[in-house]
Amino acid sequence: MPYAYDTNNIFARILRGEIPCNKVHETPHSLAFRDINPQAPAHVLVIPKGAYVCFDHFAAEATEAEIVDFTRAVGQVCAMLGVTPGADGAGYRLLANSGGDAHQEVPHLHIHIFAGRPLGPMLA
Ligand code: 5GP
Repeated sequence: MPYAYDTNNIFARILRGEIPCNKVHETPHSLAFRDINPQAPAHVLVIPKGAYVCFDHFAAEATEAEIVDFTRAVGQVCAMLGVTPGADGAGYRLLANSGGDAHQEVPHLHIHIFAGRPLGPMLA
């Protein structure tokens, strides 16, 4: 089934500059900004600039340049936040809710980066 992208979703509107965001990082194909309702001391969303609904859409249809850019952008944000794993016990959690069962709220692919406190065991 082809992916139906809603061009009026909130992240598409952020990308068009219609709604402000607290920008953390920007690359040619990706944008990172603070989550409006943070669930951790550091809670950043990284999105591709392309119109991709969810992770599998991106994985199937994004160009290699977009995939490399997006992957690197996530890593760059973790480094900028100072949370890359080290002897000090720092670390982070990545999450990409995709679809209804995962309770994806915004239908534009986004990776959550959670960090800044012990995050506990993974909950399914
Ligand atoms: P999902 O449940 O789709 O994985 O997560 C969507 C996330 O987007 C939520 O954590 C929510 O707080 C965040 N969010 C929703 N609307 C906005 C907004 O207008 N600006 C920002 N920065 N984050 C938003």
